[in-house]
Amino acid sequence: MRDPDIAGLRAANQMRYSYALRSYPTRQTFVFAMRTASALALTPAPDWALFLDVDGTILHFRDSPDGVEAGENLLNILEVILTRLEGAVALVSGRGINTLDSMFAPHRLPTAGLHGLERRSADGSLHTVEEPAALDKLRPQLLILATASTKVILEDKGHALAIHYRLEPELGEQIKHRVEELVQPFLSELHVMHGKMVTEIKSRLADKGSAIRDFMTEAPFKGRLPVFIGDDTTDEDGFAFVNSQNGYSVRVGDSTDTAARYTLPGVDDVIDWLESWPRLLDATQSAAKRTGSDR
Ligand SMILES: [Mg+2]
Repeated sequence: MRDPDIAGLRAANQMRYSYALRSYPTRQTFVFAMRTASALALTPAPDWALFLDVDGTILHFRDSPDGVEAGENLLNILEVILTRLEGAVALVSGRGINTLDSMFAPHRLPTAGLHGLERRSADGSLHTVEEPAALDKLRPQLLILATASTKVILEDKGHALAIHYRLEPELGEQIKHRVEELVQPFLSELHVMHGKMVTEIKSRLADKGSAIRDFMTEAPFKGRLPVFIGDDTTDEDGFAFVNSQNGYSVRVGDSTDTAARYTLPGVDDVIDWLESWPRLLDATQSAAKRTGSDR
């Protein structure tokens, strides 16, 4: 037999829910669409500027950060899109620019490395922020932390430090906690980011959002619509900036805790989508020509 109180509560809740839908239909639909829309619903246009995170977005993760490289198919796709967007394609990664250059050779793309701490514009000019002095003080302690297990890797990127625990994920919580503790006295200078199987310590002076913002003030990005695809919490600053410009933010994977307005399930889906861009761009341009000739 149904409990009358529970039945009454359900009915009241249903009424409230339908009232909310009636009262705020636009807002409800808007929020729902923003949280769940697949990037496949977007139609690439020739005035887009494409910003790409690398690991977990266009390249699969490997056990060690050194075991990752761009294959011929990805290089070809990037080359075609570069031409179609008149060079407005940039990498925005936590890796250093030198590493990214070797991974994507022979391309030498506009690139933001170390989460925006270093940035190479399309004209080749290099922009870096000052290395925080506090990192030198932390290096020895982080090295001790990393040597606690042979499976934990300390990656010294100069302007940033990363502790990878992909080979021993059960140490993750312990590492996060200890790093937060060590960085606590330097929070005015440093920022801790917990990514996928990695904890990074970097300067507060730049992030992926500021890197994309700076690219957007320069040729060939200026005046275009920014589109950023990333997969991790470290990409959230980029999503927030792109949203502020009414661009398109795309998070890869199933996280719901994100500012990104569009999603794709995984790396292979990103590659498939990018591979379809030339065809979609052709369709957009033919439609624009038809509309123009109808006038
Ligand atoms: Mg990533």
